[in-house]
Amino acid sequence: MEPFVHDQLRKLNLDPHRPLIVTDADEVLTYFISGLERFLSRNGYWLDLKNFAITGNIRKQGSNEVSSREQVQGLLADFFITDTELLDPVDGAADALNALARRAQIIVLSNVPLEAQDARQRWLRKHGMDFPLVANAGSKGLPLRYLSQQIVAPMFFLDDLPPHIDAVAEHASQVWRLHFIADKRLASFASPAQNSHFHTSHWPDAQNFIGGKLEESGY
Ligand SMILES: [Mg+2]
Repeated sequence: MEPFVHDQLRKLNLDPHRPLIVTDADEVLTYFISGLERFLSRNGYWLDLKNFAITGNIRKQGSNEVSSREQVQGLLADFFITDTELLDPVDGAADALNALARRAQIIVLSNVPLEAQDARQRWLRKHGMDFPLVANAGSKGLPLRYLSQQIVAPMFFLDDLPPHIDAVAEHASQVWRLHFIADKRLASFASPAQNSHFHTSHWPDAQNFIGGKLEESGY
């Protein structure tokens, strides 16, 4: 785990006896792909969404030339700087999280670049999801292991990317893992992550799953 991630996690004021929900942001709280498509269209590109990938699917308008990995990295870096606050919130996310916040602690663990961390926190506040944001980089396995060592109550993890679900299964196996993909086109390309306990694109379903598990364990 990167030292700057560890620093942020250490400063969270967590109650060890209260359940903890750790949610990803992009494609769980934000409609990331549709926001990216708006950005690309403004900048002369389009997303040829034909599988669960961004690299290899961004094309130049007109020539339809596929952008290289380096070009895609540059576009994504610019996108986070200019459009982080322009993303649409996922339907029902704020309602579900605010209802769950009466029974659990909530933090947002997002692989947002550090330059866009403040913008993302403002976005969360603006859209009624004023929960602590931790900017992560790379795998989410070790951050979840660190958090699970602080908490003696049920924990939940939501992400759209199977590698993160797998890493949490490996490093913090007791955490309930929800595979959540907001964009219905993306969801149609991805089968439920093997290491997830629940798969959905709808916040009310995620809320019910989490609520049910809390009840089962007496919370
Ligand atoms: Mg995501």
